[in-house]
Amino acid sequence: MSSAQVDADRPGMPRAVGALRAQLRDPIQRRVVGVVLVGAALAGIVAFGLAGHGSVLHGLGVPTAALLPGLTVLSCLAEMTVVRLRHGEAVEELSLYEAALIIDVLLLPPRDALIAAAAGLVLASALQRRPVVKAVFNLGTYTAATAVLILIVHLLGGSPGELTAGVLVGVVVGTLAFTGVNLLCLAQILGVINKVSPWRIVRSEARLSAYMAVGTMVTGLTTTEIALHSPLLLPFMAMPALAVTYAYRAAAREADEHARSKCLLQLSHALAEREDVVRQFLVLVREAFGADLAVVVLENDDAALSVEGTDPTSLRHGPIPRHLAALGRIDGPVHLAEGLPGGLRRMVVVPVQGGGRRFGTAAFATRDRSRGWMTTGDVTLLASLASALAVAMRGAEHLDRLVDETSKLQAVVEQSAEGIMVIDGDGTVQVWSRALADITGVDAAEATGRPLAEVLDVPVEEERRLLMPVSVEQPKTVAELTARRRDGDQRRLRLAHSAVFTAGLLVRDVVVISDLTREYRTERLKSDFIAMVSHELRTPLTPIIGYVDLLRSRGERMTPQKRLDALNLIGDRAGHLSRLVEDLLLASRFGDNPDDVSLQVSEGTHDLDALATQAARDLGSQRVVLDLPPGPVPAHCDDGRALQVLANLIGNGLKYSAEDTEVTVGMRLDGTRVHVDVRDRGRGIPADQLAKVFDKFHRVEDPMTMSTSGTGLGLFIARRLARAMGGDVTVVSTLNSGSVFTLSLNRANAEPPAR
Ligand code: ADP
Repeated sequence: MSSAQVDADRPGMPRAVGALRAQLRDPIQRRVVGVVLVGAALAGIVAFGLAGHGSVLHGLGVPTAALLPGLTVLSCLAEMTVVRLRHGEAVEELSLYEAALIIDVLLLPPRDALIAAAAGLVLASALQRRPVVKAVFNLGTYTAATAVLILIVHLLGGSPGELTAGVLVGVVVGTLAFTGVNLLCLAQILGVINKVSPWRIVRSEARLSAYMAVGTMVTGLTTTEIALHSPLLLPFMAMPALAVTYAYRAAAREADEHARSKCLLQLSHALAEREDVVRQFLVLVREAFGADLAVVVLENDDAALSVEGTDPTSLRHGPIPRHLAALGRIDGPVHLAEGLPGGLRRMVVVPVQGGGRRFGTAAFATRDRSRGWMTTGDVTLLASLASALAVAMRGAEHLDRLVDETSKLQAVVEQSAEGIMVIDGDGTVQVWSRALADITGVDAAEATGRPLAEVLDVPVEEERRLLMPVSVEQPKTVAELTARRRDGDQRRLRLAHSAVFTAGLLVRDVVVISDLTREYRTERLKSDFIAMVSHELRTPLTPIIGYVDLLRSRGERMTPQKRLDALNLIGDRAGHLSRLVEDLLLASRFGDNPDDVSLQVSEGTHDLDALATQAARDLGSQRVVLDLPPGPVPAHCDDGRALQVLANLIGNGLKYSAEDTEVTVGMRLDGTRVHVDVRDRGRGIPADQLAKVFDKFHRVEDPMTMSTSGTGLGLFIARRLARAMGGDVTVVSTLNSGSVFTLSLNRANAEPPAR
């Protein structure tokens, strides 16, 4: 009642012998030829060996001339009554052909039985337009198996005309042998196709084949007996067969539906993930609908993507099939049955469109015409799946665009020289750009997810509320505050807030942060400078103006000595003013490049001892104590500049120490260098200011309070000049106990002078 058949599709049989040889190199073709030869040999044995035998059973009452064609038609119809049944991963095709064979064998003489069986099969193959190789293989297999069945039935049961025990034994053994031969032939081919040993196939299929053999035998035997003895009951005989067929079909459909649901579930996951959607669609839909070929042609693409049954998971790129190209744009499902290449019999083409976009067409084709392939419901489902693919592709496009936009936006945020941060409604940092990390010294990983107030250290209480100053009325505002970095450095920041509120609640605040520290410092420097210069100019100007007024109004009446004193004081203050102006000019000429200063210095060799003595004397203070070597100490220097430097160092010593303390000027010789140390017992300099006192305009005291006068230029100029002369000015100082400023120069004569 059933059979397992090969589902291999091969091109037509070769005609020429050379072509045959070439074909025989193909293992499948070789096995087909082998099976056909075995079938022919066994058929020959039956035809000649059992030539004299009549039919096993008699009494049908139908003339022999009508019986052969009648049973041939019956075999053909039985072969076409096919139910596809999933068996594990394979699909079995069950038919009533084998039950019809039992009838042929019992009611016809051996040779006629063989003819009816073979002719019925050929007729069914032709009607179903089966591929030639498949038809030939089936013919070979069934001829061999039927010949074995006929031989066994006739050898064990003979042809007694009625059902005897011998006939029964013959039919049972013959059916088992038939099934065995059928399975062996099938295993040969399936073994090659699936690349496994034929015995494995025999083992896995044996149980199903045995069940089928029992069904085949029982159906055939019972039908024959009823036909012989109660032909009126024959139509009733068809009932169980039809019921079984129906049950098989229902089971097969259920198994198909189950397998299809599994594929479609996988497909829905694949489409939802939006990855590799076209390939997944082709692979899974092809499998779900049992197609041999699945193709997608995308709009504006000159290649087609396809998946074939022979390699069901890999995507191929190839030219667009002619018949699909010819089809052009379609709006709904289209069926094609003519002019299909590669042995394809039917093709269903559906548009891939959805979500307002058209992406192309998808086509699914089969080589088998016999199956009830693609019902109207299937085509509707296929069309829906194709639009689901379109929606997924559209989604993937959106996602790509979104990712693209996001990365562009990220690049803008990351590459912006201004710091950018995004804060959510709770004041938690969401985005923290690289520039902001540079400005604040807090990196993005540390900042994100934390409240802004914890991330930014704002030392001034009133400025802290400026971290989140936005409100519904004022979503855009600019605030300035000073934040402290971990290294203690303070930064002046401008925060430009731009907030989004929804239903009165803060959703997001995008803040662009500029580092104003430089400008801020420059601004402070400028105002400090103006304050300092005006103070420094006014200090000597006040006595000058006062004494000039005095000389003008009462000069005639003043004693010559008093007049002289007034003029000396005016001269002294004017000299101070002139030095001040010279310092300003000199400092303005020095750029950041220390070499600029060399233009202001001439080379020469001078006695540093004498210069130090003169500098101390010029200052005219009793507090300066000289502790110098007796002889000259020649050094490489510009005498005027060295004098200027020493005067500044000694002057500072006097200025920044108490009136009752001394300032000592000493000298040390050290290899090729000579050092002049100016030591005071004054206020000293805080350690963190030691390096800064040499900066332009830097003063340790607050310029606004001005406890001592000064420009903050002296040490800056002194160090620049000393370096230009090949030396340096350095300082060692202890707060509240005093400082030692040292001018170091190269000695002209490295020999230590006699002391
Ligand atoms: P000025 O004395 O005009 O302010 P300088 O460049 O000579 O400028 O000095 C810079 C700063 O260094 C001074 O303002 C002062 O605060 C500090 N300073 C310089 N010399 C001494 C010193 N001997 N003792 C303490 N502080 C000093």
